[in-house]
This record gives sequence, C-alpha cells and structure tokens, in this order.
Amino acid sequence: MIYIVEDEENIRDIESYALMNSGYDIKSFEDGRNFIGQCLILPPELIVLDIMLPGEDGLSLLRQLRQHKSTEKIPVIIVSARDSELDAVKGLDGGADDYITKPFGVMEFISRVRAVLRRSETEKSEETLKFGDIEVDDCRHVVKAAGQECALTFKEYKLLVTMIRNHGLVLSRERLMQLVWGTDFAGETRTVDMHITSLRKKLGSSGGMIKTIRNVGYKLEER
Ligand code: CA
Repeated sequence: MIYIVEDEENIRDIESYALMNSGYDIKSFEDGRNFIGQCLILPPELIVLDIMLPGEDGLSLLRQLRQHKSTEKIPVIIVSARDSELDAVKGLDGGADDYITKPFGVMEFISRVRAVLRRSETEKSEETLKFGDIEVDDCRHVVKAAGQECALTFKEYKLLVTMIRNHGLVLSRERLMQLVWGTDFAGETRTVDMHITSLRKKLGSSGGMIKTIRNVGYKLEER
C-alpha cells in the first residue's frame, strides 16, 4: 500500500493512476488532517508527500512521521515545486528518501518509487548471505572472500549482494543497472562492466564465480 498526500487534484490523479497501473494499491489524501492517524493505524510501504499543502505542510508531516516508532522507517518521496529546491533539501535533511520536482513524467515517477521501495527492501533484510566462499554480513556491510575481508565500495557491495540474491540467473547489464543503480536508464551499461571488473579483482580467486555471459550480462555461479 502506498499513500499519496497531494492537494492538487490533477497531480493526485496522475500519481494515483500511475501507481495503480503499475500494480500498487494506493490511498490518497488531500491534506494532512487524517494522514498521520491513518499511518499509525495502517503503516504503508511508501509515502508520496507533497510539500505545499493547506494546513500542515509536508515537511511538518515528515517530521511527525520520523518521530513515531511505527512510522519512522516508512520510506518517503517528497514532491516539491520546481522553483523550490530549498524545500527539497529541507525534505532530505528531514529524513525523506528521495524527492521529485513538479512537473514530472510518469515514467520518472514510477522509476523513483521502485528504486526507493527496492532500497527499503534491501535494508529490511538483516542477515548473513553466503555463496561459495563469499560471506556477506548485511548488518555490518562486511564482505569476506575465502576468509579475507574485502574493502568494497557501496555500489560494488550492492552489486555483489544483488548477484548473490539472484545467483544462478543470468542478469543483463540493463537489469543490473535497475537493481543496483535504481535507474531504468540503459545508456550507461559500461558502468556495470567497470564495477564487475573491480569487484572480481577485489574478491580474489572467489571473483571467478562471476561469469561473463557473452553479449548478455553476468551470472554468479559456483565453480
Ligand atoms: Ca501542493
């Protein structure tokens, strides 16, 4: 369930239809009056929150969400007017996960929503992942390959975790771009190759488990 708080009816409709067409359940609010109460009763998976609202504004609602134990971790995307970058900054400082400026395209909107949901899914899973002789402590973000700790960058780490979660499957560069970089922009797939190369190197002999699938992408496979 995704909650939308937006006072402009046409924007509320655009957001609602875009999300429903992508298979999400939604509930929309015209202002903040019953919103916090509803969040406490039934916390959503994500909130799309307009900043300029009649009555209490979005930043103030965000502050309240972050104060309650049951709502502090709900991902929030704030929506700000184009000429108000300051609001976006304040929103991110106030604990928003992302922001989008009006006017926005439906594709961009959906891709932001997906990216934020994915990130929150990843953060929820606190566990140790194992594949072959690679061990990932997902709480402490520590990676060991054959018992040796590897210093990975954030993206290399995410790439590795994504590959372990999808081991045995061929992942195209475009798919990895979506899963790791959170973007549907397929033009920069060379970025994926560069990160794979450096990840392999850092994993030492365990890096050999990352197989190149010619003309397609990569696959993590035990030797
Ligand atoms: Ca507004």
